[in-house]
Amino acid sequence: MRLVVLGAGYASLAFLKSLGVAVRSNCQITLISQSPLHYFSVLLHEVAAGLPGSYTIPLSQIIPHEVRFIQDCVLEIQDKSVLGAQGTYPYDYLVVGLGFASESFGVPGVEEHAHSLTNFANAQASHQALLQAIVDFKQERPFSVVVCGGGFSGIELVGALNDTLKSLCTPKTYKLTCIEAMPAILPMFAPQLAQRGVDYLQKKGVQLVLGAKILACQSDRVLVEQGGVTQEILADFLFWTCGVRGNPVIENSTFFKSVRARVEVNAFLEPVEMPGRGVFVVGDCAALKDSEGKFYPPSAQLASQMGRYLGQEFSQISARKPPTKPFSFTPKGVICSLGTHFAIGNLGKCNVVGKWVVWLKRYIEWRWKRDIIA
Ligand SMILES: Cc1cc2nc3c(=O)[nH]c(=O)nc-3n(C[C@H](O)[C@H](O)[C@H](O)COP(=O)(O)OP(=O)(O)OC[C@H]3O[C@@H](n4cnc5c(N)ncnc54)[C@H](O)[C@@H]3O)c2cc1C
Repeated sequence: MRLVVLGAGYASLAFLKSLGVAVRSNCQITLISQSPLHYFSVLLHEVAAGLPGSYTIPLSQIIPHEVRFIQDCVLEIQDKSVLGAQGTYPYDYLVVGLGFASESFGVPGVEEHAHSLTNFANAQASHQALLQAIVDFKQERPFSVVVCGGGFSGIELVGALNDTLKSLCTPKTYKLTCIEAMPAILPMFAPQLAQRGVDYLQKKGVQLVLGAKILACQSDRVLVEQGGVTQEILADFLFWTCGVRGNPVIENSTFFKSVRARVEVNAFLEPVEMPGRGVFVVGDCAALKDSEGKFYPPSAQLASQMGRYLGQEFSQISARKPPTKPFSFTPKGVICSLGTHFAIGNLGKCNVVGKWVVWLKRYIEWRWKRDIIA
């Protein structure tokens, strides 16, 4: 029986690590990913900002020895086979965990002029481009870095960039601005908690432009509409973190019905349009509804819980028996770092703020590394 797993992110690796011994020895398991490394997508903002740290682990240190790894770029998923740049891979069971892509929302100039955070290689390239832009900057005014999007990843990026720029430039020689269309940043947190983040960033000199709809990105500026007035914000370097969609492979595969490159899945993580076909979609490529019918926002936490659930159920599935239970998501809380000295978060009913929350977040990341290497 051929089990093919696509992508080596949170969902796919949690899946592989949770497979029982019987499945691992009875199935021919192939993992296909474009990189031989697992990178921590939750830390891409630190990579782009150039903060020192360890952001990757070789897959050879993670995947069980029964799993065959193929480095290839997946192009299209078809019925019973996957088309890659290097070959075609037939499957009996397929687990799709290809992650996310940046969402431009059709705003002109995003692709050409803005840097986004979608994978390790592009986050590293963005950092190199930022360093080069600082070196090349010769004007008699502060170097202006603009982050479009004041959601979770945008604010984490702003915090990390502020640390980097502070170490590379003197305070008067750079300006860091975050543009957000909504009247407030970090909508996932209670307003008083999000305000602690605003206060911290403003104290650090970050300029927050709120309620500003982005009309276009250009080579050296961003056009916004704020309060009915069109304005220009100077940008010597531009990041785009306004939202994510599923991997483009999903949209390129007519096999799937998708919205914003995400496949709606049922409580057994099968596409709702084709249950019982041995195909499962996990992580950011999947759209799963909660009990109130709203889609869960994508997160590494959701992705890894999906992978773990599916891995544990796979001995049933591969024996053609129904899964023992449906998937259910247990949110463990959210922590947003605003650089290396301050973070805000929500753990159950408890709001947490301060430097120690950065350490708590580091501990959670360390636990993920420890668990997947074990
Ligand atoms: C800056 C930032 C901060 C974040 N912070 C948090 C946080 O604090 N907490 C949280 O829960 N979530 C956070 N997230 C969201 C989280 O990173 C994603 O939800 C999570 O990574 C999704 O996991 P995944 O397994 O679906 O995909 P990923 O972990 O992104 O893995 C995708 C895999 O697919 C591979 N791949 C992609 N395309 C192809 C292809 N065509 N062919 C072959 N292989 C391919 C990639 O190489 C990768 O191995 C953050 C995201 C960003 C960008």
